[in-house]
Amino acid sequence: MKDLVVDVTLRLSGGIITYDQEWKVTAINAQVAQIFGRNYEDLLGKNFWAVCPELIGSPIYYQCLWAIAHQSSTRFEQYFYVLNNWFEVHIYPNQTNLTAYFQNITERKQLETSLTAENIVFPEFSTQLNSQARSKQDQNWKKLLDNSSDLVCRFDHNLRYVYTNQAVERATGLPALACIGKTHAEIGLPKQIYSRWDHVLGLALKTSQEQLIESRLPTPDGERIYKSRIVPELNDQGVPEYLLVLSRDITKIKQAEQERSQLIQEQAARAEIEQVNRVKDEFLAVLSHELRSPLNPILGWAKLLQTRQYDTTTLNRGLEIIERNAKIQAQLIEELLDVSRILRGKLILQKCPVNLTLTIEAAIETVQLVAQAKEVEICTYFHPNVGKVMGDPDRLQQVVWNLLSNAVKFTTFGDSIEIWLEQIDSQAQITVKDHGVGIAPDFLPHIFDSFRQADSSITRSSNGLGLGLAIVSNLVELHGGTVTAESKGEAQGATFIVKLPIISTPITENQPHPASSQLITLAGTQILVVDDEADSRQYVAFVLEEHGAKVTTAASATEAIQLFTQLKPDVLISDIGMPDIDGYTLLQQIRAWNLKPEIPAIALTAYASEHDKKLAYRAGFQHHIPKPIEPDKLVIVVAKLIQEIK
Ligand code: ADP
Repeated sequence: MKDLVVDVTLRLSGGIITYDQEWKVTAINAQVAQIFGRNYEDLLGKNFWAVCPELIGSPIYYQCLWAIAHQSSTRFEQYFYVLNNWFEVHIYPNQTNLTAYFQNITERKQLETSLTAENIVFPEFSTQLNSQARSKQDQNWKKLLDNSSDLVCRFDHNLRYVYTNQAVERATGLPALACIGKTHAEIGLPKQIYSRWDHVLGLALKTSQEQLIESRLPTPDGERIYKSRIVPELNDQGVPEYLLVLSRDITKIKQAEQERSQLIQEQAARAEIEQVNRVKDEFLAVLSHELRSPLNPILGWAKLLQTRQYDTTTLNRGLEIIERNAKIQAQLIEELLDVSRILRGKLILQKCPVNLTLTIEAAIETVQLVAQAKEVEICTYFHPNVGKVMGDPDRLQQVVWNLLSNAVKFTTFGDSIEIWLEQIDSQAQITVKDHGVGIAPDFLPHIFDSFRQADSSITRSSNGLGLGLAIVSNLVELHGGTVTAESKGEAQGATFIVKLPIISTPITENQPHPASSQLITLAGTQILVVDDEADSRQYVAFVLEEHGAKVTTAASATEAIQLFTQLKPDVLISDIGMPDIDGYTLLQQIRAWNLKPEIPAIALTAYASEHDKKLAYRAGFQHHIPKPIEPDKLVIVVAKLIQEIK
C-alpha cells in the first residue's frame, strides 16, 4: 500500500508530501524534495521541520498549523528559494495525516509582477469588477499610491518586496522592478540596516502586531531619516499574509528638532556662562573690596606712626589696628586657600580625640573682642559629659569660629547669642543661635554654597567673601558630620546646628593646649634666615633675636650657601620662592654636603597649599610654616625643632 502511494505521487506533475500526526514524512515525490532542496531519502520517515528548520515561520508552516487546527483545507502561494520558483500550495488535513500539494506558478507570477510594476493589482478591491472596470480601478489605486510622498512597500513572508510605489524610486533611485522579488539584502542595503529592518518585519509577522521603526537610509541625496509603520495584512484566518510598510521622510523634522535642542542647549550654556561670569565678577568685586578695606587702616596708621610722635596709648592703639586688619587680610587669604584645597580634595585633617568644650571656648575667645565691641553677649550652655569626637581640633575650632563670627556679624547691637553643646544619642550637637537679621527663605537653600551671600551688592552692610559657610559645611562633612541652618525668615534670627559622631571607645586625649612663647629662650642658638624680601627677613630675625637667638640673614640662596660654611648654623629658616635658586634647591645642596648632624630646616613661605607642604617635606624640610606667621608661633616651632634634635 505504501509503495503504491509512493508510486502514485511520483507520477504527479506537481509535488506532493504527506505527514503523519508527528510531522513525520510518510510519502513524498521527487518534485517536492527538489522544492525543499533535500534528497528524497533525507525526508522520508523524518520529522519534516527538523530536516527543514528554515521553513519554520514561513507561510507553509503557519498554513499547516491553521489547517490542522481548523481541520479545513487551505490554499496559498509561496516562493521557494532553492528552485527560485513560486508555488501554489494546497493543504488537505484529516484526522491522521496532512497532505500538501505544490503547483509551480512561477510563470503566472512573473506575468503578475511585470503587471504589478506597470499596473498594480489589488485583488481585494477588484474581484467583483469586470476586467475593464477592474483595470480602471487598479489604475486609480496605482495613481493614488504613486502620488503619495510617503514610501509604500509590501513584503511577503520571506521578507521579499512584492510592491513598491514610485515614492520609493524617487527617494532611493530603485525602480519597482529592481526591488520586487528581492529581499533587503538582495537590493544591496548595508547589513547593519537590513538586519534591524528584517528583525522588525519578522516581529510583525510573528506577533501580527503593528511595529514602528525609525531608520537612517542611504539615498542618492545623502542619508535620510524615515519613520516607518509596519502593518501586518491578515488573511481570513487572521494569519499575516503580507506586510505593508508606510515610511515617511522625517529628516527635516529631525533636523529642526536637533537644531532646536542645540539652540536650547546653547542658550542654557550661555546663560550658565553669564551666571558664572556674573558670580565671578561679583566675587572679584567683593574680594578686591575685602582685601583693600583692611589695607586702608594698615597703611594709614603705619604712615601716621612713622611721621609723628604719639603717646604710648595712641601708639599701641595704632599698632593694634594694624595687627587686627592684617589678621583680617590673612584670614581672607586663608579662606580662599581652604576653598581651593577643599575643591581639589587636598585638605588634610590631623585627627585626634577632641573635647568640644575646649574647642568652643577657644573659638569664643577669638570672637570675644568683636562681640564686646558690639555689646553682644555670648551665652554658653554646655551639657556635662559630652563625649569626644575624632577630629582636627584646629579645623573644628574654625567651624565654630565661623558660625560664631557670622552670628556676631549678623546680630544687632546689644543682643545675645546662644551656643549649646549637647550629646544626642551617639552624636555631639553644637547649636549656634542668634536673634539677628535672619535668613530669607529663598536664600536658605543656598546658604552653604561657595561665594554666596544674601546681599552681594555694593551697598551690602556686612563684609566677607561668602566662603565661610561653604568651608564649614565641607569641614563638617570631612569629619563625618552634618550642618544645617534654620531661620523663620528675615529679622527672625538664625540657628546653625552641627552634628558630629562621638568616639565610642575612650582614647587618650591628645588635644594640643595653646602654648605661650613668653618663657621660651633660644639663647645660644645660631639661626640662618634666608628670604629675598627684606621686611620679612628682618621681621623673622627680630622675633628670634628677642628670644635670645643669634640670627644671620641672607637675601638669596647663593649668599646663604657662602654664609653656611662659615657659620655652621643650628637651624635654617628659608623662604621657598626666591630668584635664581629656590629654597628647595638650597636645602638639597646643603643636604648633599652630608653634614653631621644634619641641620634642621624650616620652610617659611607664602606657598601655603598642601601640595607645597608635601614638596617642602620631600626637599628635606622638617617643618613647613605658611606666611604670615605670628611671632609666638614662630618661636614655638623653632624651639620645638631644637628640642627634637637634642
Ligand atoms: P561671609 O563671609 O560673606 O559671611 P558666609 O559663607 O559665612 O560668608 O555666609 C554667607 C552668607 O550667609 C552671608 O553673607 C549671609 O548672607 C548669610 N548668613 C550667614 N550666617 C548668617 C546668620 N547668622 N544670620 C543671617 N545670615 C547669615
